Amino acid sequence: METSGFGPRGNVEEVLGMDATGRKLVWVKREDFQGWACSRCAWAFNPAGPLVRESIEEMKTHYEAQRDQEFKSHVCAKHSGTTRPI
Ligand SMILES: [Zn+2]
Repeated sequence: METSGFGPRGNVEEVLGMDATGRKLVWVKREDFQGWACSRCAWAFNPAGPLVRESIEEMKTHYEAQRDQEFKSHVCAKHSGTTRPI
């Protein structure tokens, strides 16, 4: 892994693609946090609460769309260190 020194600390269990800047969306598992995060900075995805009217399939689709959209639109420089959850 080339993520040592920056990005999410903990076990990266899964990596989803890479965008134009080379950052990756990674699934992180550690004691105090589990979820999707950026490999470059401290950004982590906080999903909106579940919508009860949706089916599981709809929820999953919306979750992934929201996650991908927020990942694409976040700016790494704005999340460097300051919002790191540890
Ligand atoms: Zn980032």
